[in-house]
Amino acid sequence: MLNVFRSRPKYAKVQRTDGEQRREFPDNLWTRCDRCGQMLYNKELEKAMHVCACGHHFRLSAYQRLSMVADEGSFIPFAPVYSVDPLGFPGYGEKLVKAQELTGLDDAVLIGHAQIDGYPVILAIIDFSFIGGSMGSVVGEQLTRGFERALEEQLPVVIFSGGGGGARMHEGIFSLMQMAKTAQAVGRHSRAGLLYISVLTHPTMGGIYASFSSLGDIIMAEPGALIGFAGPRIVEETTKQKLPEGFQTAEFALEHGMVDMIVKRDEMRSTLSRLLRYHVRGEGK
Ligand SMILES: [Zn+2]
Repeated sequence: MLNVFRSRPKYAKVQRTDGEQRREFPDNLWTRCDRCGQMLYNKELEKAMHVCACGHHFRLSAYQRLSMVADEGSFIPFAPVYSVDPLGFPGYGEKLVKAQELTGLDDAVLIGHAQIDGYPVILAIIDFSFIGGSMGSVVGEQLTRGFERALEEQLPVVIFSGGGGGARMHEGIFSLMQMAKTAQAVGRHSRAGLLYISVLTHPTMGGIYASFSSLGDIIMAEPGALIGFAGPRIVEETTKQKLPEGFQTAEFALEHGMVDMIVKRDEMRSTLSRLLRYHVRGEGK
């Protein structure tokens, strides 16, 4: 499943630092770490759950995340919903088609029934590659259906957020309305005494952070994830204040009580399983 969208091999020229020689790395075999600059062999990187030895957590597609979190073969997706481009925003229709081809998703969220270590949940994963993981009417509607279904079936909800785009500007007010809509759906689920675990991955910003993703009963984050509403540059310009070191990182959010725990990728599944075991009535595995 991970390699469905592999492109044709292209060869990137890489300048060696020790002289004028150039070596060619096929760019579908190697990836450069954004943090430490190390060239990483893709097969090894995949084995390491897309985490570099330096601790940098690479961004994952929704399907990659699904394969790391859910029990194999347990995922049953909801029926797809498609945006109708309500504003006739120039170029948005083509953008949607391109994003659908790139990710294999109908919109920026992959959602459905799944099991995590034998515990049934509603699982939703936002994919950053789909227009920045932004929330338009489809993402809002699907997440709302997720909470409603979970309420009906008395299930916990687990959502992985990673939407740097926040609310999707191409749908204007329809996107902004999804913030209130999803927040209300979370509230109804919560008042029924059901568990919602929100996992913030890099980057969780804007309207996504300002609605459902900051409302989890338990909020986890991946190391180094950027978490916040407006970006640091805008905050600095608006408040005319110098921001502290590490502002808006997962670690900063933990220190200031906005996040309950930081969980490394290789411990994510076992941590979710443990939390589900503590909170869910009835039998799991
Ligand atoms: Zn690295």
